[in-house]
Amino acid sequence: MVLTKQWFCIYRTRVGTRLNKNPLGGYDTHRMKTCITCGMPFEGAHANDVALETREGLICVYDIKDGKIKSPEDIFEGGVQFFMMQVTNNNRDLAERLIRKNMKSLGYWKKRPFIGLDGAEATDQEFRQAIAKLSSE
Ligand SMILES: [Zn+2]
Repeated sequence: MVLTKQWFCIYRTRVGTRLNKNPLGGYDTHRMKTCITCGMPFEGAHANDVALETREGLICVYDIKDGKIKSPEDIFEGGVQFFMMQVTNNNRDLAERLIRKNMKSLGYWKKRPFIGLDGAEATDQEFRQAIAKLSSE
């Protein structure tokens, strides 16, 4: 995929910039800290949003409730709400497809498939547009 400048600025790390295939994480997760359940980079405004450290990696405050990892359905729904608000102008169908594409790219959910991930995914172009929109704000 082609990386926009904004995308690069938001997701680059201070220590390394090697690319991986995670569309939201964007970069090698061994070098850069990202949330394993939603892909959010712990950078900038989110640098201190780590809530839990697990054997598999770090998890952000948005995916934790009462000290435990939220259910897959809750994390999925949180992503839908986020994309509806920030990107899709309340288009739920597109928001669901975007978060589905994002979560399916994460190793954590590859190991823990759940019913919400079955269904249509956003196209690469839709995903790129969504990220470009996020990056421009
Ligand atoms: Zn997260």
